[in-house]
Amino acid sequence: MEYTSVKGMFDILPEELHKEDQWKESGCWQYLESVLRDTAHDYGFKEIRTPILEKTELFSRGVGEGSDIVSKEMYTFLDRGNRSITLRPEGTAAVARSFVQHRLYTQPAPHKYYYIGSMFRYERPQAGRYREHRQFGVEVLGISQPELDAEVINLACEIYRRLSLRELNIQINSVGDLKSRSDYQEALSQYLRPYFSELSLDSQNRLAKNTLRILDSKDLKDQEILQNAPLLSQFLTQESKNHFATLLQRLDQLKLHYTINPKLVRGLDYYSNTVFEITSTDLGSQSSLGGGGRYDGLIAMLGGPNIPGIGFATGLERVLQTMHKQKVPFPPSPHPLIFLVPMGKQAIDYAFVLASELRREKISCDLDLSGKKIQHGLQIANLLKAAYCLIIGEEELSSNQAKLKVMATREVIDISLNALPSVLKKLLTRSTV
Ligand code: AMP
Repeated sequence: MEYTSVKGMFDILPEELHKEDQWKESGCWQYLESVLRDTAHDYGFKEIRTPILEKTELFSRGVGEGSDIVSKEMYTFLDRGNRSITLRPEGTAAVARSFVQHRLYTQPAPHKYYYIGSMFRYERPQAGRYREHRQFGVEVLGISQPELDAEVINLACEIYRRLSLRELNIQINSVGDLKSRSDYQEALSQYLRPYFSELSLDSQNRLAKNTLRILDSKDLKDQEILQNAPLLSQFLTQESKNHFATLLQRLDQLKLHYTINPKLVRGLDYYSNTVFEITSTDLGSQSSLGGGGRYDGLIAMLGGPNIPGIGFATGLERVLQTMHKQKVPFPPSPHPLIFLVPMGKQAIDYAFVLASELRREKISCDLDLSGKKIQHGLQIANLLKAAYCLIIGEEELSSNQAKLKVMATREVIDISLNALPSVLKKLLTRSTV
C-alpha cells in the first residue's frame, strides 16, 4: 500500500521540485507569517491560539446551521466519549468562545486578537481550494464605532501592501442590523417566491432558511432573476446607514479604493452591518483573497455580554499563490555559512565538536558525517548553498592550518583552525553590513 496525504491536504516542504508549486516551500510560509505577525503587532493586536478541535455545537450555533460551512463542509466526528467534535472550519467562533469562556471582556476594550492556523472544510478540492487551509485572522471586540471597521480593512490592505501584492479589489457592503435584515429578507423572499421553480436547487433550499445567501449564487439564471430584486441598501435602518457612511468616509480619508457591491453578503450567518471582501483576478475562479465583517450579536449568542465585534481573515495559500503569480520575490531561504568536510576518523572527531562550538557562537554550520569521499562532501556543500567550505584531513589537524574555500568565487583563504570561529564571525559581520 502506498501512503499519501489525505485528499485536499498537502505537505509544506523545504524545497519543491515543480516550479508552479514553489509557493508551497516552507521558507515562503515563514516569510509570510513574519509579515503577518509584524503587521498585526504594529496595529496593536496580540496573538491568541485556540485548539484545532471544538465542540460541534459551537459552530452550528456560532457560524449558523444555514451556512454552507455548517450544513455540508465540516469535519465532524464522535470522540471516544461519544461527544460530537469538529475540526475548526474558521477562526472567529473559536476566538469568540475563548473570549467568553475566559471572561476576557472584564479587561478594558478594545480587545484585539490575531491568529494563524489551519482550518478544515470538506469542500471539492480544486485550484485554490483545499480541505486543510491556513488562515491569518484578526478580531476586534468591544467597540462598535465604524472607525474600527476602517482600521481592520486598512490592516488587511497594509498586509497585502507589505507583501507587494498588486491589483487587488476591495468590495464592501452593509448587510444592516437585525431589523434591516429581517425586513429585507421578507421583501426578498416575497420577490423570489413566484420564480421558485426557475431557481437553482441550491437557491430553492436557501429560500426558506438563508434567503440572503441567494444573492451570492453563481447560477446564471439565478443572477438574471435577481437583477430586478429589491436591494438591501433600501432596507437599512438610519443607524446602519450612518455606520456605513462614516466607514466609507474613513476609508476615503485613508485613500483606500473600494467598490460598493450591494450583492455582497458573505457566507457566514453572524455578520451585521459591514461586510467586505478583497479579491485578486490572479486567483482565477477562487478569487477571494480575504474578507470579513462586523458581528455585533455573536458574543451574546455564545453566552457572553452584548459586545460588538469586527474581524477579517485571509487564506495563506491564496496569498502565496497570488505572490507567486505576480512574481513577487521571496527572501532567500537561510543557508549554512560554513560546511565542514572531515576526512578520516580523527577529523570527524574534531569536526563533530567544532561544529557544535560554531553553532554555539550562532554561526550556522553543517558537516558531512558520512565518512565518504571529499567529492561527496563538496556536493552536499553545493546543494546546501553553503557560503564557505572547509576540508579537514590529517595534515590540517597536525599543522593546525587549513584552506577555507569561498564557494561563490572558488577563492581560498589560509586560516589557522583555532582561529576559525573568530574569522567566520568577522566574515559574517562583513557580509551583513
Ligand atoms: P471565509 O472564512 O470563507 O471568509 O474564508 C476566508 C479566506 O480563507 C478566504 O478569503 C480564502 O482566502 C481562504 N479560504 C477559504 N476557504 C478556503 C479553502 N477551502 N482553501 C483555501 N483557502 C480558503
